[in-house]
Amino acid sequence: MKAAVVHGVNDIRIEEYPSPVVGAGEVIVKTKIAGICATDIKTLLGQGIPKDLPTILGHEVVGEIAATGDGVKRFAVGDRVAVYPIAACGKCHYCLQGRHNLCEAEFGLGHGIEGGFAEYVRLPKEIIDIGGVVKLEDDFSYEDAVLAEPLSCTLAAARTCRMKKGDSVLIIGAGPMGLMHLKMAKWFGCQVIIADLIDERLALAGRMRADHLINSDRDNLADQVKEITDGRGADTVVISLGIPQIIEDSLKLTAKGGVCNIFGGPPPSEIKLDPRWLHYQEITLTGTFASTPADFIKSLELIRDKSIIVSDLLSHRFTLDSFLDAVEKAKNQEMVRGIVIFD
Ligand SMILES: [Zn+2]
Ligand SMILES: [Zn+2]
Repeated sequence: MKAAVVHGVNDIRIEEYPSPVVGAGEVIVKTKIAGICATDIKTLLGQGIPKDLPTILGHEVVGEIAATGDGVKRFAVGDRVAVYPIAACGKCHYCLQGRHNLCEAEFGLGHGIEGGFAEYVRLPKEIIDIGGVVKLEDDFSYEDAVLAEPLSCTLAAARTCRMKKGDSVLIIGAGPMGLMHLKMAKWFGCQVIIADLIDERLALAGRMRADHLINSDRDNLADQVKEITDGRGADTVVISLGIPQIIEDSLKLTAKGGVCNIFGGPPPSEIKLDPRWLHYQEITLTGTFASTPADFIKSLELIRDKSIIVSDLLSHRFTLDSFLDAVEKAKNQEMVRGIVIFD
C-alpha cells in the first residue's frame, strides 16, 4: 500500500509500505480521510517521536471496513466507521472509571501502532473492545466525521472545566484547536473571548461567533479581559497552545473560583506559580489530554445532528501525493484544518 512513512525527525516519505494483515479480533480499515493534527507535526519535528521507526502517523481516521478478523461480529466489510485512536486495556484503574485516555497500558494510532496516513489501517482488538470503532450512517459525510476526534478533545476540556451556560470562557490561541474550543464553548452557551496574535485568525473566530476578539500583540490581554469581565477574569481559561511563558501569564486571567486548563501540549519546561493564588482564589488548575470514548461518541452526535458545525474549519484538502505540501503548510501554520483524502 502507499503511505506517508516517517523515517526520522523531519523525514517523511511517500512510499510503498507493507499492507497490514488482520489478526483475530481486529479489523482493517480502508482509509477514506485522515485528518492532519498539530500533534502529528509536533511528533514529526521530534516532540515524542516514536522509538520504533519507520512508522506511520495520523490518528484522525474515518473509512470503510476492508477486512475483519476471527471473532469480530459487530462489523462487516463495507461498514463506514469513525475511529477513536487510543487502544486502552479496559481493565486498569483508569479504564474502569471511563478515563481510557489515561490507561496504564495505552497505545494507539501513530504511537505504538501505525496510523492513518496510509491506504489501510489495522485497528487492534483493544480499540474495538472499548467501543472505539463507531459506525456511521450513509449520509454522515466522512469530511464531517473526521473532525469528531479533535472536537472530542475540546469536549474533554469543557467537561473537565465544568463549563456551563453563561460562563465567560477565555481561549488563548485561535489556531485549529482554539477555534474548536470556541465552537464547543458556544454550544455550552458560554460567552467566549478569544485571543491570538494574528488578525486573520481572529477574524475567522469572529465569523464563528466569538463574542470578543483580542489581538494580544496590539492590546494588553489582561486589561482587555478585565474590562470585558467586570474586573473578575474569565470563569474558564483554556490555553490552547504550548508556550510556557504564555501559559504562566494566562493563568492569572482566571476568575476567583474559576478553572484553568492547560490544553496545548507544552515541551518540558517550568512555570512559576504562587500557591496563594490557588488557595485564596480557589482556582482549579487542570489539563486535558486527548479524550475518552464517551467524549468521542458524543462529539460524533454533536456533529451529526448539526449542534456543532465543523465544516467551516476545513481549509485544505490533500492526497497522499501532495502530503509533503500539507506538512509544509501545517508547519508554517498556513491552514486551519487539513485533511488527506484517499480514493
Ligand atoms: Zn488530533
Ligand atoms: Zn486501561
